[in-house]
Amino acid sequence: MSFASLGLQPDWVARLTALHYTEPTPIQSAAIPAILSGRDVLAGAQTGTGKTAAFTLPLLQQLPDSVDAKAPLVLILTPTRELAQQVTDSVQRYAQGTDIQCVSVYGGVSIRQQVEALAQPVHVVVATPGRLLDLLQQGALQLHAVRTWVLDEADRLLDLGFKDELYRLRRQLPDTRQTLFFSATFPQAVKDVAFSLLNDPLQMDVTPANTTAAQIQQILYSMDKRQKRPALAYLIGSGQWSQVLVFVRTKQGADALVAELKLDGLRAEALHGDKSQGTRQRALTEFKAGQVRVLVATDVAARGIDVVDLPYVVNYELPFQAEDYVHRIGRTGRAGKEGKAISLVSRDEEGLLADIEALIDQPLPMIWLEGFEPSFDEPENHGRQLRKQRQKNKAKAKAQASYGIRKKK
Ligand code: AMP
Repeated sequence: MSFASLGLQPDWVARLTALHYTEPTPIQSAAIPAILSGRDVLAGAQTGTGKTAAFTLPLLQQLPDSVDAKAPLVLILTPTRELAQQVTDSVQRYAQGTDIQCVSVYGGVSIRQQVEALAQPVHVVVATPGRLLDLLQQGALQLHAVRTWVLDEADRLLDLGFKDELYRLRRQLPDTRQTLFFSATFPQAVKDVAFSLLNDPLQMDVTPANTTAAQIQQILYSMDKRQKRPALAYLIGSGQWSQVLVFVRTKQGADALVAELKLDGLRAEALHGDKSQGTRQRALTEFKAGQVRVLVATDVAARGIDVVDLPYVVNYELPFQAEDYVHRIGRTGRAGKEGKAISLVSRDEEGLLADIEALIDQPLPMIWLEGFEPSFDEPENHGRQLRKQRQKNKAKAKAQASYGIRKKK
């Protein structure tokens, strides 16, 4: 099969040939003709399948040369700024040599440049939901001209709690539009949203059958650093967790935590790059078999971990790379099961937390864990601003409401 036979015009095929794209991937073969026909599409496809080209190429081919400022014709929503940037890079690569303008907007960076970019004629906007809504509110763009709305990695958008934002955005889009919904997994909650947004969609699936997925509850506890280890042991014990994956930042940190948990009587193993392949494999096998209760891993070592139905993931330390947070919490909530991602956050990590919030474009309020509340007189907490105290108090009130945690007498 060739790109030309899917309906792409010679100039677009030539651009793809220059990029060494000679054969369409399965999702491209299925999606390109469907999108060119104007139908809504519901597609199961993971990253790495060529899905970005599958939805961008037919849309780009149909764009007119001239457009208005602030009024994109194509809106692509992504869960993270990392993905927004990646999709934008792809669009710019595919559209090289054309007049097509693509602007990406996401949180965590100055809004001013984005406002300026949108004030020029723009064909395609790639956005995370939170920043997009901010820009809409400021009048930096409007959605009345959008012909096609793409939800990329829709399951992650929903995992990250963006359902309300999706419905708010839909209200601003024209009734007559094409909607393309791409998701790696289709648990019921994702299906429900998909069918409420799509109009008689063509359905296609190139996702392997065993990758279904993800309902993740994110809980963040603010606490002193020295309280983390006892708090972790308490959570495991009181919750009777039989299988928990704990993330730390360093190999030394992993070994030290394992040693301490063993002193607490918990069967724990470390998984990091200094361990031999055999040792790592054994730890993993024992963890999967339920013989090891706590697996303490670094981010790199954890990449290959695939434990179906993992109920709990703990961020004992927040990662230096915000993207790793998304990878970490994606380890739970698999196979359509509920999963909890719990983060223990000390004051020195609040900057890392801000990076994560910017990346996923969503606030992550912290709460207190009864008996492990942060002590305001601990050295690491000196100089805490009033604003932070107010935030914590608000978070605590919320915690009391939603988790039944009582004030410590
Ligand atoms: P994606 O799933 O969109 O993240 O794409 C995965 C990778 O495959 C990207 O690096 C693309 O540049 C590449 N790619 C997509 N389609 C093709 C194709 N038809 N031939 C060769 N490479 C491709």
